[in-house]
Amino acid sequence: MSCIFCEIVAGRAEASVVHEDDDVMAFMDIRPWTSGHLLVVPKRHAVGLADLEPADGQKVFATGQRIARVMRGGDSSAEGVNLFLADGVVAGQEVFHVHLHVLPRRRGDGFGLRGIPRSPGRAELDKTAAALRPLLR
Ligand code: 5GP
Ligand code: ZN
Repeated sequence: MSCIFCEIVAGRAEASVVHEDDDVMAFMDIRPWTSGHLLVVPKRHAVGLADLEPADGQKVFATGQRIARVMRGGDSSAEGVNLFLADGVVAGQEVFHVHLHVLPRRRGDGFGLRGIPRSPGRAELDKTAAALRPLLR
């Protein structure tokens, strides 16, 4: 079964395409959070980070970085850029084909991530780091 972003990649669904190459596609988000909000997707379907080929992830990020640089330059330049990726329902993922949000930011644009930072002690930070470290070897 296909997904909406696979349909866009295949040219069977409409999209306002910003960039396309052999591996990735970037197109405007239909419900932008800020003006100019777009999405970068790998052409090969992957649901989330777990099944995304690392090489495709690198290409998605590199394309997002390149677009962000363009957004920061030129006449209608953004004052900042957020890159955002939701992996899993609990993280806010709604479309299950990996995508990187690229959000041009301007003062007063109304966008914000809600979150209340805690101030854990060094012992807790070290414990969390120690639990992850062996899994990354
Ligand atoms: P998520 O919450 O999964 O990270 O974000 C999904 C994004 O895809 C949303 O920002 C939503 O507006 C966008 N979206 C959903 N369906 C379509 C579509 O058919 N075309 C485009 N261009 N964007 C879509
Ligand atoms: Zn797909």
